[in-house]
Amino acid sequence: MRSVSRLPAIPLRVRLTLWYTASLALILLLFAAFLYLQLQRSLLSQVDVGLEVVAAQSLANLAAEEGRLSFQAGARNPQVAPRLNDDFVIYLLAPDGSVWDQIGRDDDAPLVPSPTAGVVTLVSGDGERWRMVNQPVGLDGTSGWVQVVQELEPVEQTLQSLLRQMLFGLPIAIVLAGIGGFFLAARALRPIDRITRTAQAIDANDLHQRIGYTGPADELGRLAATFDTMLARLDTAFERERRFTGDAAHELRTPLAALKGRIGVTLSQPRPPSAYVETLQEMEQQVDRLVRLSNDLLFMARLEGSQPHQQPEPVDLSDLLAATVDQMRPLADAKSIRVAEAIPGGLVIQGQMDLLIRLFLNLLDNAVKYTPANGQVTVQAQKQPQGVQIAIRDTGPGIAADHLPRLFDRFYRVEDDRTRQWRDNGQGGAGLGLAIAHEIVRAHGGTLSAQSEVGQGTTFFVQLPAAKVVLKVASSGS
Ligand code: ADP
Repeated sequence: MRSVSRLPAIPLRVRLTLWYTASLALILLLFAAFLYLQLQRSLLSQVDVGLEVVAAQSLANLAAEEGRLSFQAGARNPQVAPRLNDDFVIYLLAPDGSVWDQIGRDDDAPLVPSPTAGVVTLVSGDGERWRMVNQPVGLDGTSGWVQVVQELEPVEQTLQSLLRQMLFGLPIAIVLAGIGGFFLAARALRPIDRITRTAQAIDANDLHQRIGYTGPADELGRLAATFDTMLARLDTAFERERRFTGDAAHELRTPLAALKGRIGVTLSQPRPPSAYVETLQEMEQQVDRLVRLSNDLLFMARLEGSQPHQQPEPVDLSDLLAATVDQMRPLADAKSIRVAEAIPGGLVIQGQMDLLIRLFLNLLDNAVKYTPANGQVTVQAQKQPQGVQIAIRDTGPGIAADHLPRLFDRFYRVEDDRTRQWRDNGQGGAGLGLAIAHEIVRAHGGTLSAQSEVGQGTTFFVQLPAAKVVLKVASSGS
Protein backbone atom coordinates (compact mmCIF):
# COMPACT_ATOMS: atom_id res chain seq x y z
CA MET A 1 0.00 0.00 0.00
CA ARG A 2 1.28 3.42 -0.84
CA SER A 3 1.36 5.81 2.05
CA VAL A 4 1.14 9.53 1.47
CA SER A 5 3.08 11.55 3.97
CA ARG A 6 1.65 14.95 4.60
CA LEU A 7 3.18 17.77 6.54
CA PRO A 8 0.99 19.05 9.34
CA ALA A 9 -1.06 21.89 7.86
CA ILE A 10 -0.62 25.35 9.36
CA PRO A 11 -4.10 26.62 10.24
CA LEU A 12 -5.47 29.18 7.79
CA ARG A 13 -5.99 31.63 10.66
CA VAL A 14 -2.27 31.52 11.50
CA ARG A 15 -1.24 31.77 7.87
CA LEU A 16 -3.51 34.79 7.30
CA THR A 17 -2.13 36.47 10.41
CA LEU A 18 1.47 35.80 9.36
CA TRP A 19 0.89 37.18 5.87
CA TYR A 20 -0.91 40.20 7.21
CA THR A 21 1.74 40.91 9.86
CA ALA A 22 4.62 40.42 7.43
CA SER A 23 3.15 42.78 4.86
CA LEU A 24 2.27 45.34 7.52
CA ALA A 25 5.84 45.13 8.91
CA LEU A 26 7.26 45.67 5.44
CA ILE A 27 5.02 48.68 4.83
CA LEU A 28 5.88 50.18 8.23
CA LEU A 29 9.62 49.67 7.65
CA LEU A 30 9.45 51.33 4.25
CA PHE A 31 7.44 54.17 5.71
CA ALA A 32 9.90 54.59 8.60
CA ALA A 33 12.87 54.64 6.21
CA PHE A 34 11.12 57.24 4.06
CA LEU A 35 10.32 59.36 7.12
CA TYR A 36 13.92 59.15 8.37
CA LEU A 37 15.40 60.17 5.03
CA GLN A 38 12.91 63.00 4.60
CA LEU A 39 13.65 64.38 8.06
CA GLN A 40 17.37 64.08 7.48
CA ARG A 41 17.11 66.02 4.23
CA SER A 42 14.91 68.70 5.70
CA LEU A 43 17.11 69.18 8.80
CA LEU A 44 20.22 69.39 6.64
CA SER A 45 18.66 71.94 4.35
CA GLN A 46 17.65 73.99 7.42
CA VAL A 47 21.29 73.93 8.55
CA ASP A 48 22.37 74.98 5.06
CA VAL A 49 19.93 77.89 5.00
CA GLY A 50 21.25 78.99 8.40
CA LEU A 51 24.85 78.79 7.17
CA GLU A 52 24.03 80.82 4.05
CA VAL A 53 22.25 83.48 6.11
CA VAL A 54 25.17 83.73 8.52
CA ALA A 55 27.63 83.97 5.62
CA ALA A 56 25.57 86.79 4.11
CA GLN A 57 25.35 88.61 7.43
CA SER A 58 29.13 88.26 7.89
CA LEU A 59 29.63 90.14 4.62
CA ALA A 60 27.67 93.07 6.01
CA ASN A 61 29.94 93.19 9.06
CA LEU A 62 33.34 93.35 7.35
CA ALA A 63 35.98 96.05 7.60
CA ALA A 64 39.08 96.44 5.37
CA GLU A 65 42.29 97.85 6.68
CA GLU A 66 45.80 97.72 5.31
CA GLY A 67 45.17 95.04 2.82
CA ARG A 68 43.48 92.68 5.24
CA LEU A 69 39.88 92.13 6.23
CA SER A 70 38.39 91.81 9.68
CA PHE A 71 34.98 91.72 11.33
CA GLN A 72 33.64 94.99 12.62
CA ALA A 73 33.72 95.34 16.36
CA GLY A 74 29.93 95.00 16.75
CA ALA A 75 29.86 91.67 14.95
CA ARG A 76 31.19 89.88 18.02
CA ASN A 77 28.50 91.41 20.23
CA PRO A 78 25.54 89.00 20.64
CA GLN A 79 23.24 91.98 21.18
CA VAL A 80 24.23 93.60 17.90
CA ALA A 81 24.57 90.50 15.75
CA PRO A 82 22.84 87.67 17.62
CA ARG A 83 22.80 85.33 14.66
CA LEU A 84 26.57 85.53 14.11
CA ASN A 85 27.14 84.60 17.73
CA ASP A 86 24.98 81.49 17.72
CA ASP A 87 26.50 78.02 17.38
CA PHE A 88 28.67 78.93 14.43
CA VAL A 89 32.41 79.32 13.97
CA ILE A 90 33.04 82.00 11.33
CA TYR A 91 36.50 82.32 9.79
CA LEU A 92 37.68 85.17 7.66
CA LEU A 93 40.46 83.71 5.52
CA ALA A 94 43.14 85.39 3.51
CA PRO A 95 43.61 84.05 -0.03
CA ASP A 96 46.63 82.06 1.22
CA GLY A 97 44.45 80.26 3.77
CA SER A 98 45.66 82.03 6.89
CA VAL A 99 43.01 83.22 9.32
CA TRP A 100 42.51 87.00 9.37
CA ASP A 101 39.68 86.99 11.85
CA GLN A 102 37.22 84.65 13.61
CA ILE A 103 33.90 84.80 15.48
CA GLY A 104 33.12 81.89 17.83
CA ARG A 105 35.62 79.27 18.90
CA ASP A 106 35.67 75.50 18.89
CA ASP A 107 38.97 73.68 18.84
CA ASP A 108 37.43 70.79 16.95
CA ALA A 109 35.95 72.99 14.22
CA PRO A 110 37.60 72.14 10.92
CA LEU A 111 39.27 74.74 8.77
CA VAL A 112 39.80 74.44 5.03
CA PRO A 113 42.63 76.75 3.92
CA SER A 114 41.94 76.53 0.18
CA PRO A 115 38.19 76.34 -0.13
CA THR A 116 35.82 76.27 -3.07
CA ALA A 117 32.54 78.15 -2.90
CA GLY A 118 29.53 76.11 -1.69
CA VAL A 119 28.38 73.81 1.10
CA VAL A 120 30.22 70.62 2.21
CA THR A 121 30.01 68.13 5.05
CA LEU A 122 33.25 67.44 6.83
CA VAL A 123 34.33 64.95 9.46
CA SER A 124 36.77 66.26 12.04
CA GLY A 125 39.59 64.26 13.60
CA ASP A 126 37.47 62.89 16.48
CA GLY A 127 34.71 61.73 14.19
CA GLU A 128 32.36 64.71 14.62
CA ARG A 129 30.49 65.78 11.53
CA TRP A 130 30.39 69.42 10.53
CA ARG A 131 28.65 71.37 7.83
CA MET A 132 30.57 74.20 6.16
CA VAL A 133 29.78 77.02 3.70
CA ASN A 134 32.52 78.95 1.85
CA GLN A 135 31.94 82.24 0.17
CA PRO A 136 34.48 84.56 -1.49
CA VAL A 137 34.44 88.14 -0.17
CA GLY A 138 35.97 91.40 -1.30
CA LEU A 139 36.00 94.87 0.23
CA ASP A 140 37.87 97.92 -0.91
CA GLY A 141 40.09 95.91 -3.23
CA THR A 142 40.90 93.28 -0.58
CA SER A 143 39.51 89.83 -1.14
CA GLY A 144 39.41 86.68 0.92
CA TRP A 145 36.94 83.97 2.09
CA VAL A 146 34.22 83.78 4.64
CA GLN A 147 34.02 80.22 6.02
CA VAL A 148 31.06 79.36 8.30
CA VAL A 149 31.04 75.98 10.13
CA GLN A 150 28.38 74.38 12.26
CA GLU A 151 28.46 71.10 14.06
CA LEU A 152 25.85 68.58 12.88
CA GLU A 153 25.42 66.99 16.30
CA PRO A 154 21.97 68.48 17.06
CA VAL A 155 20.72 67.21 13.71
CA GLU A 156 22.19 63.79 14.38
CA GLN A 157 20.69 63.73 17.85
CA THR A 158 17.25 64.48 16.46
CA LEU A 159 17.65 61.74 13.85
CA GLN A 160 18.93 59.24 16.40
CA SER A 161 16.08 60.00 18.72
CA LEU A 162 13.65 59.36 15.87
CA LEU A 163 15.46 56.13 15.05
CA ARG A 164 15.28 55.02 18.69
CA GLN A 165 11.58 55.75 18.83
CA MET A 166 10.99 53.87 15.64
CA LEU A 167 13.08 50.86 16.73
CA PHE A 168 11.11 50.75 19.94
CA GLY A 169 7.69 51.59 18.51
CA LEU A 170 7.70 49.51 15.33
CA PRO A 171 8.02 46.05 16.91
CA ILE A 172 5.30 46.94 19.40
CA ALA A 173 3.04 48.16 16.60
CA ILE A 174 3.73 44.99 14.59
CA VAL A 175 3.08 42.69 17.55
CA LEU A 176 -0.16 44.54 18.38
CA ALA A 177 -1.25 44.42 14.74
CA GLY A 178 -0.42 40.69 14.66
CA ILE A 179 -2.56 40.01 17.74
CA GLY A 180 -5.39 42.12 16.31
CA GLY A 181 -5.03 40.36 12.96
CA PHE A 182 -5.19 36.97 14.65
CA PHE A 183 -8.47 37.82 16.34
CA LEU A 184 -9.89 39.38 13.18
CA ALA A 185 -8.91 36.31 11.16
CA ALA A 186 -10.51 34.09 13.80
CA ARG A 187 -13.66 36.16 13.62
CA ALA A 188 -13.76 36.18 9.83
CA LEU A 189 -13.19 32.42 9.68
CA ARG A 190 -15.77 31.55 12.34
CA PRO A 191 -18.51 30.81 9.74
CA ILE A 192 -16.11 28.33 8.11
CA ASP A 193 -15.69 26.58 11.45
CA ARG A 194 -19.45 26.45 11.72
CA ILE A 195 -19.77 25.03 8.21
CA THR A 196 -17.15 22.42 9.04
CA ARG A 197 -18.83 21.45 12.30
CA THR A 198 -22.23 21.18 10.63
CA ALA A 199 -20.78 19.11 7.82
CA GLN A 200 -19.11 16.81 10.35
CA ALA A 201 -22.36 16.38 12.27
CA ILE A 202 -24.33 15.40 9.19
CA ASP A 203 -24.70 11.79 8.19
CA ALA A 204 -26.90 10.17 5.59
CA ASN A 205 -29.73 9.69 8.09
CA ASP A 206 -29.94 13.30 9.12
CA LEU A 207 -29.82 15.62 6.17
CA HIS A 208 -32.30 18.08 7.66
CA GLN A 209 -29.62 20.20 9.29
CA ARG A 210 -28.67 23.48 7.67
CA ILE A 211 -25.93 25.97 8.34
CA GLY A 212 -28.44 28.81 8.44
CA TYR A 213 -25.81 31.51 7.97
CA THR A 214 -27.28 34.91 8.71
CA GLY A 215 -24.31 37.11 7.83
CA PRO A 216 -23.90 39.22 4.69
CA ALA A 217 -23.97 37.62 1.25
CA ASP A 218 -20.20 37.79 0.84
CA GLU A 219 -17.90 34.91 -0.15
CA LEU A 220 -18.64 33.05 3.09
CA GLY A 221 -22.34 33.79 2.87
CA ARG A 222 -22.40 32.35 -0.64
CA LEU A 223 -20.40 29.32 0.46
CA ALA A 224 -22.84 28.66 3.30
CA ALA A 225 -25.85 29.18 1.00
CA THR A 226 -24.36 26.82 -1.61
CA PHE A 227 -23.76 24.25 1.08
CA ASP A 228 -27.36 24.57 2.30
CA THR A 229 -28.70 24.22 -1.25
CA MET A 230 -26.57 21.13 -1.74
CA LEU A 231 -27.87 19.68 1.52
CA ALA A 232 -31.45 20.38 0.47
CA ARG A 233 -30.87 18.58 -2.83
CA LEU A 234 -29.24 15.64 -1.08
CA ASP A 235 -32.06 15.59 1.44
CA THR A 236 -34.65 15.43 -1.33
CA ALA A 237 -32.70 12.75 -3.20
CA PHE A 238 -32.24 10.63 -0.08
CA GLU A 239 -35.87 11.09 0.87
CA ARG A 240 -36.86 9.98 -2.61
CA GLU A 241 -34.65 6.93 -2.36
CA ARG A 242 -36.05 6.08 1.06
CA ARG A 243 -39.60 6.39 -0.20
CA PHE A 244 -38.74 4.32 -3.24
CA THR A 245 -37.23 1.53 -1.14
CA GLY A 246 -40.19 1.61 1.24
CA ASP A 247 -42.71 1.56 -1.59
CA ALA A 248 -40.83 -1.20 -3.41
CA ALA A 249 -40.75 -3.32 -0.26
CA HIS A 250 -44.44 -2.69 0.27
CA GLU A 251 -45.28 -3.58 -3.32
CA LEU A 252 -43.37 -6.83 -3.04
CA ARG A 253 -44.66 -7.75 0.38
CA THR A 254 -48.36 -7.39 -0.42
CA PRO A 255 -48.49 -10.03 -3.18
CA LEU A 256 -46.10 -12.26 -1.27
CA ALA A 257 -48.36 -12.10 1.79
CA ALA A 258 -51.36 -12.86 -0.44
CA LEU A 259 -49.49 -15.80 -1.95
CA LYS A 260 -48.53 -17.13 1.45
CA GLY A 261 -52.12 -16.79 2.70
CA ARG A 262 -53.44 -18.60 -0.32
CA ILE A 263 -50.92 -21.44 0.08
CA GLY A 264 -51.75 -21.69 3.79
CA VAL A 265 -55.49 -21.91 3.13
CA THR A 266 -54.99 -24.50 0.37
CA LEU A 267 -52.75 -26.69 2.50
CA SER A 268 -54.94 -26.44 5.61
CA GLN A 269 -56.96 -29.45 4.54
CA PRO A 270 -56.90 -32.13 1.84
CA ARG A 271 -58.51 -30.93 -1.41
CA PRO A 272 -59.38 -32.45 -4.77
CA PRO A 273 -56.70 -32.02 -7.47
CA SER A 274 -58.82 -29.45 -9.32
CA ALA A 275 -58.67 -27.14 -6.30
CA TYR A 276 -54.87 -27.31 -6.33
CA VAL A 277 -54.83 -26.51 -10.05
CA GLU A 278 -57.10 -23.54 -9.47
CA THR A 279 -54.89 -22.29 -6.65
CA LEU A 280 -51.76 -22.69 -8.75
CA GLN A 281 -53.36 -20.78 -11.62
CA GLU A 282 -54.24 -17.90 -9.33
CA MET A 283 -50.77 -18.01 -7.90
CA GLU A 284 -49.25 -17.92 -11.34
CA GLN A 285 -51.05 -14.65 -12.08
CA GLN A 286 -49.67 -13.11 -8.95
CA VAL A 287 -46.19 -14.43 -9.63
CA ASP A 288 -46.47 -12.87 -13.11
CA ARG A 289 -47.24 -9.55 -11.47
CA LEU A 290 -44.27 -9.94 -9.17
CA VAL A 291 -42.05 -10.69 -12.16
CA ARG A 292 -43.40 -7.59 -13.95
CA LEU A 293 -42.81 -5.48 -10.90
CA SER A 294 -39.24 -6.66 -10.42
CA ASN A 295 -38.60 -6.17 -14.14
CA ASP A 296 -39.91 -2.63 -13.89
CA LEU A 297 -37.71 -1.95 -10.87
CA LEU A 298 -34.67 -3.34 -12.64
CA PHE A 299 -35.49 -1.33 -15.74
CA MET A 300 -35.82 1.83 -13.69
CA ALA A 301 -32.50 1.21 -11.93
CA ARG A 302 -30.80 0.52 -15.27
CA LEU A 303 -32.35 3.61 -16.81
CA GLU A 304 -31.07 5.87 -14.07
CA GLY A 305 -27.69 4.19 -13.78
CA SER A 306 -26.65 3.65 -17.36
CA GLN A 307 -27.94 6.76 -19.08
CA PRO A 308 -24.70 8.62 -19.75
CA HIS A 309 -23.04 5.63 -21.39
CA GLN A 310 -25.61 5.01 -24.12
CA GLN A 311 -25.21 6.62 -27.51
CA PRO A 312 -28.31 7.99 -29.24
CA GLU A 313 -29.09 6.69 -32.72
CA PRO A 314 -31.48 7.95 -35.41
CA VAL A 315 -34.96 6.55 -34.71
CA ASP A 316 -37.83 6.79 -37.20
CA LEU A 317 -40.57 7.98 -34.88
CA SER A 318 -43.29 7.69 -37.53
CA ASP A 319 -42.59 3.98 -38.04
CA LEU A 320 -42.09 3.38 -34.35
CA LEU A 321 -45.42 4.97 -33.40
CA ALA A 322 -47.30 3.10 -36.11
CA ALA A 323 -45.78 -0.21 -34.96
CA THR A 324 -46.62 0.51 -31.32
CA VAL A 325 -50.23 1.34 -32.20
CA ASP A 326 -50.48 -1.91 -34.19
CA GLN A 327 -49.14 -3.83 -31.22
CA MET A 328 -51.82 -2.35 -28.95
CA ARG A 329 -54.65 -2.81 -31.42
CA PRO A 330 -55.67 -6.35 -30.35
CA LEU A 331 -56.00 -5.18 -26.74
CA ALA A 332 -58.10 -2.20 -27.87
CA ASP A 333 -60.21 -4.36 -30.17
CA ALA A 334 -60.93 -6.69 -27.29
CA LYS A 335 -62.55 -3.71 -25.49
CA SER A 336 -64.11 -2.30 -28.68
CA ILE A 337 -61.93 0.78 -28.34
CA ARG A 338 -61.29 2.65 -31.55
CA VAL A 339 -57.68 3.66 -32.10
CA ALA A 340 -57.18 6.62 -34.44
CA GLU A 341 -53.78 7.79 -35.57
CA ALA A 342 -52.51 10.94 -37.28
CA ILE A 343 -48.79 10.46 -37.72
CA PRO A 344 -46.92 12.25 -40.54
CA GLY A 345 -44.15 10.26 -42.14
CA GLY A 346 -40.42 10.95 -41.91
CA LEU A 347 -40.11 12.08 -38.31
CA VAL A 348 -36.66 10.97 -37.26
CA ILE A 349 -35.17 11.80 -33.91
CA GLN A 350 -31.92 10.98 -32.19
CA GLY A 351 -32.71 8.60 -29.36
CA GLN A 352 -32.75 5.05 -28.11
CA MET A 353 -35.17 2.81 -29.93
CA ASP A 354 -35.86 0.34 -27.11
CA LEU A 355 -36.54 3.15 -24.62
CA LEU A 356 -38.88 4.97 -27.01
CA ILE A 357 -40.86 1.77 -27.69
CA ARG A 358 -41.22 1.30 -23.96
CA LEU A 359 -42.35 4.92 -23.55
CA PHE A 360 -45.17 4.76 -26.11
CA LEU A 361 -46.23 1.25 -25.06
CA ASN A 362 -46.62 2.45 -21.48
CA LEU A 363 -48.71 5.47 -22.50
CA LEU A 364 -50.86 3.54 -24.99
CA ASP A 365 -51.29 0.66 -22.57
CA ASN A 366 -52.60 3.09 -19.93
CA ALA A 367 -54.91 4.77 -22.45
CA VAL A 368 -56.44 1.45 -23.48
CA LYS A 369 -56.43 0.10 -19.92
CA TYR A 370 -58.26 3.06 -18.38
CA THR A 371 -60.65 3.77 -21.26
CA PRO A 372 -63.98 1.98 -20.91
CA ALA A 373 -65.41 -0.19 -23.71
CA ASN A 374 -66.42 1.63 -26.90
CA GLY A 375 -64.17 4.54 -26.12
CA GLN A 376 -61.51 6.07 -28.36
CA VAL A 377 -57.76 6.46 -28.21
CA THR A 378 -56.04 8.94 -30.57
CA VAL A 379 -52.34 9.11 -31.34
CA GLN A 380 -51.26 12.37 -32.96
CA ALA A 381 -47.75 13.39 -33.90
CA GLN A 382 -46.67 16.71 -35.32
CA LYS A 383 -43.51 18.56 -36.03
CA GLN A 384 -43.18 21.79 -34.06
CA PRO A 385 -40.60 24.59 -34.10
CA GLN A 386 -39.23 23.26 -30.82
CA GLY A 387 -39.25 19.64 -31.90
CA VAL A 388 -41.80 16.88 -32.21
CA GLN A 389 -44.93 16.62 -30.14
CA ILE A 390 -46.84 13.39 -29.71
CA ALA A 391 -50.28 13.52 -28.09
CA ILE A 392 -51.97 10.36 -26.81
CA ARG A 393 -55.60 11.14 -26.06
CA ASP A 394 -58.25 8.89 -24.56
CA THR A 395 -61.89 9.11 -23.58
CA GLY A 396 -61.31 7.44 -20.22
CA PRO A 397 -62.37 8.57 -16.74
CA GLY A 398 -59.81 11.37 -16.57
CA ILE A 399 -57.55 12.28 -13.64
CA ALA A 400 -58.50 14.82 -10.98
CA ALA A 401 -56.36 17.98 -10.97
CA ASP A 402 -54.90 17.32 -7.51
CA HIS A 403 -53.33 14.06 -8.73
CA LEU A 404 -51.66 15.58 -11.78
CA PRO A 405 -48.58 17.09 -10.06
CA ARG A 406 -47.52 13.73 -8.61
CA LEU A 407 -48.61 11.58 -11.51
CA PHE A 408 -45.06 10.86 -12.67
CA ASP A 409 -43.73 9.99 -9.20
CA ARG A 410 -42.59 6.44 -8.74
CA PHE A 411 -45.31 4.18 -7.28
CA TYR A 412 -47.88 6.94 -7.47
CA ARG A 413 -51.36 5.72 -8.23
CA VAL A 414 -54.59 7.59 -8.41
CA GLU A 415 -56.52 4.77 -6.73
CA ASP A 416 -55.45 4.79 -3.14
CA ASP A 417 -56.11 1.21 -2.23
CA ARG A 418 -52.93 -0.57 -3.15
CA THR A 419 -54.21 -3.99 -2.29
CA ARG A 420 -57.20 -3.66 -4.60
CA GLN A 421 -55.29 -4.61 -7.70
CA TRP A 422 -54.23 -7.88 -6.14
CA ARG A 423 -57.57 -8.65 -4.59
CA ASP A 424 -59.53 -7.91 -7.74
CA ASN A 425 -56.77 -8.94 -10.05
CA GLY A 426 -57.75 -5.53 -11.32
CA GLN A 427 -56.34 -3.31 -13.94
CA GLY A 428 -53.97 -1.10 -11.97
CA GLY A 429 -50.24 -1.68 -12.01
CA ALA A 430 -47.67 -0.74 -9.40
CA GLY A 431 -47.59 2.92 -10.38
CA LEU A 432 -44.25 2.67 -12.15
CA GLY A 433 -45.43 2.94 -15.77
CA LEU A 434 -45.63 6.75 -15.90
CA ALA A 435 -42.49 7.18 -13.80
CA ILE A 436 -40.60 5.06 -16.33
CA ALA A 437 -42.14 7.02 -19.21
CA HIS A 438 -41.11 10.26 -17.55
CA GLU A 439 -37.53 9.05 -17.07
CA ILE A 440 -37.29 8.00 -20.70
CA VAL A 441 -38.52 11.38 -21.98
CA ARG A 442 -36.16 13.17 -19.60
CA ALA A 443 -33.26 11.06 -20.85
CA HIS A 444 -34.08 12.27 -24.36
CA GLY A 445 -34.03 15.88 -23.22
CA GLY A 446 -37.78 16.27 -23.61
CA THR A 447 -40.82 16.80 -21.42
CA LEU A 448 -43.84 14.70 -20.56
CA SER A 449 -47.04 16.36 -19.39
CA ALA A 450 -50.67 15.45 -18.88
CA GLN A 451 -53.93 17.31 -19.34
CA SER A 452 -57.09 15.81 -18.03
CA GLU A 453 -60.68 16.48 -17.24
CA VAL A 454 -62.60 14.10 -15.04
CA GLY A 455 -65.26 12.29 -17.04
CA GLN A 456 -63.89 13.56 -20.36
CA GLY A 457 -60.54 11.86 -20.81
CA THR A 458 -56.83 12.39 -20.56
CA THR A 459 -54.14 13.55 -22.98
CA PHE A 460 -50.43 12.85 -22.48
CA PHE A 461 -48.06 15.15 -24.39
CA VAL A 462 -44.57 13.97 -25.22
CA GLN A 463 -42.29 16.78 -26.34
CA LEU A 464 -38.94 15.79 -27.84
CA PRO A 465 -36.44 18.56 -28.54
CA ALA A 466 -35.63 19.98 -31.98
CA ALA A 467 -31.89 19.81 -31.44
CA LYS A 468 -32.04 16.08 -31.53
CA VAL A 469 -34.74 15.86 -34.21
CA VAL A 470 -33.72 15.42 -37.83
CA LEU A 471 -36.17 15.08 -40.70
CA LYS A 472 -35.42 11.98 -42.69
CA VAL A 473 -35.65 13.91 -45.98
CA ALA A 474 -33.12 16.49 -44.85
CA SER A 475 -30.68 14.01 -43.39
CA SER A 476 -30.66 11.81 -46.50
CA GLY A 477 -30.07 14.88 -48.63
CA SER A 478 -32.86 14.04 -51.07
P1 ADP B 1 -50.02 1.89 -13.27
O1 ADP B 1 -49.02 0.88 -13.64
O2 ADP B 1 -50.65 1.72 -11.95
O3 ADP B 1 -50.99 2.17 -14.36
P2 ADP B 1 -48.88 4.35 -14.01
O4 ADP B 1 -47.65 4.99 -13.48
O5 ADP B 1 -48.88 3.92 -15.42
O6 ADP B 1 -49.17 3.17 -13.04
O7 ADP B 1 -50.07 5.33 -13.76
C1 ADP B 1 -50.23 5.96 -12.51
C2 ADP B 1 -51.67 6.30 -12.24
O8 ADP B 1 -52.15 7.22 -13.20
C3 ADP B 1 -52.57 5.09 -12.40
O9 ADP B 1 -52.82 4.57 -11.13
C4 ADP B 1 -53.83 5.62 -13.02
O10 ADP B 1 -54.80 5.85 -12.05
C5 ADP B 1 -53.46 6.96 -13.59
N1 ADP B 1 -53.51 6.96 -15.05
C6 ADP B 1 -52.49 6.70 -15.90
N2 ADP B 1 -52.86 6.83 -17.17
C7 ADP B 1 -54.20 7.13 -17.17
C8 ADP B 1 -55.18 7.40 -18.18
N3 ADP B 1 -54.85 7.34 -19.47
N4 ADP B 1 -56.42 7.70 -17.75
C9 ADP B 1 -56.74 7.75 -16.46
N5 ADP B 1 -55.84 7.54 -15.46
C10 ADP B 1 -54.60 7.22 -15.81
